[in-house]
Amino acid sequence: MSSPIQRRKTRQVQIGHVWVGSDHPIMVQSMTNTDTADAEATARQIFELWRAGSEVVRITVNSAEAAAQVANIKTKLENWGCKVPLVGDFHFNGDRLLRDYPECAEALAKYRINPGNVGKGAKRDEKFALMIERAIEFNKPVRIGVNWGSLDQSIAARMMDENSKRAVPLTAEAVMREALIVSALESADQAIQWGLSPDKILLSCKVSHVQDLIAVYRDLGARCDYPLHLGLTEAGMGSKGIVASSAALAVLMQEGIGDTIRISLTPEPNGDRTKEVVVAQELLQTMGLRSFTPLVTACPGCGRTTSTVFQELAQDIQNFLREQMPVWRAQYPGVEDMKVAVMGCVVNGPGESKLADIGISLPGTGEVPVCPVYIDGQKDVTLKGDHVAAEFQAIVENYVQTRYGENGSKRRADAPKVIPLTPV
Ligand code: SF4
Repeated sequence: MSSPIQRRKTRQVQIGHVWVGSDHPIMVQSMTNTDTADAEATARQIFELWRAGSEVVRITVNSAEAAAQVANIKTKLENWGCKVPLVGDFHFNGDRLLRDYPECAEALAKYRINPGNVGKGAKRDEKFALMIERAIEFNKPVRIGVNWGSLDQSIAARMMDENSKRAVPLTAEAVMREALIVSALESADQAIQWGLSPDKILLSCKVSHVQDLIAVYRDLGARCDYPLHLGLTEAGMGSKGIVASSAALAVLMQEGIGDTIRISLTPEPNGDRTKEVVVAQELLQTMGLRSFTPLVTACPGCGRTTSTVFQELAQDIQNFLREQMPVWRAQYPGVEDMKVAVMGCVVNGPGESKLADIGISLPGTGEVPVCPVYIDGQKDVTLKGDHVAAEFQAIVENYVQTRYGENGSKRRADAPKVIPLTPV
């Protein structure tokens, strides 16, 4: 899919086998919520996030027990055929953990360092320098990840002080936004002075309000050429988290800002962690920036659809498509661009179905109970009876095999490698 936006020009940074920057697609990232010391649980969650489509996965490295398991986690994943780059999230004690656990430093593909959580006073620079030394020694990139909730207080105090001396002081919010950016840029300058290549640096400045995030990243993007990781921190649960993250990230990506994204959703208790990956993919795909999974166009339904058959079919087919993708992605290159329509009645059903690659128009209340199926704009077959859902699914499967299989007319040439279905 060709991108409709002009990306902000950045340096290109390699994270494991993944390249990030303006010459590459915007990358989807996620983070585990398991205890990293529990290698089995963490490896399984990383596998699920990767299988859902996460291209880089960040893990907490907060203790000796966690650091000791990182290489083991990586080995487990490789044994399952999963080579997703792992990012270590370090706060407070990262200098010691990277020094004491060289196998952890080696296994990670990137270090995330929060400059506000490294240390205080002279100790801060000393500890930060040690982490940068490790990154240089192991040839790893670093994300300097500033966060509103853990901003370096010495920078905040300095900037508030400077602001008070201005003839026309800025608002406290504006000063805090500037402090975030300064913290990221000054930390990057320090890392370069200590010997880290600028081509090993990514930046992020996460805040929890949409307008603040947009303002900060617009400014940050104009003041440097590092790739930027986007995410609305503490976005929240459910629809609130999805809407807030999408609103902020969509505005920035439309302006060409952002090279990696994460949707920081608070999961429901025992909820599915892969949801954040699905939302990130759907955001990129609905914006026309990347394709991951065939999207289902479905009408919202109205007074013409008095049964739940139509909603159930739309949901079933979207779930079916998503479940097939780990296999289809490898077998049927190009299928991620397929468009499927499930429509509720004759008003817009036939028209929308003809515009999709494959579409079905269900009967509204009072209509003859038949379901015409359209393939590549032409009416192909009419379904009726109790097995419409299963029959339509079979038609979709057949369409995928025919159009995106070995000699299919819609097949993409660059077939990715086969992806295993489950950990073994
Ligand atoms: S296509 Fe038919 S059922 Fe769907 S919203 Fe339009 S009028 Fe209602």
